Amino acid sequence: MSACGGSMEPIGSFQRRKGEYVLVHRCLDCGLERFNRIAADDDFNLVLALPSVPPLTSSEVKTQRLEGELGEESDKHQVA
Ligand SMILES: [Zn+2]
Repeated sequence: MSACGGSMEPIGSFQRRKGEYVLVHRCLDCGLERFNRIAADDDFNLVLALPSVPPLTSSEVKTQRLEGELGEESDKHQVA
């Protein structure tokens, strides 16, 4: 479950420089991505079955979201 209550779907994985694998979950409702380090008791076969996604930093996602919000706000100001 994500903060918005939407269901989180595993969409891929990537490997950090340290060698640890990270699962990428994405919220089906709002698109929020969450990185979960794979624990020893996680199903590693699931990780291998998922596509390898580039380790997008969460800051990049935030920047995109901020730009979208700013764009909407400036539109409102122009209308007003
Ligand atoms: Zn969500």
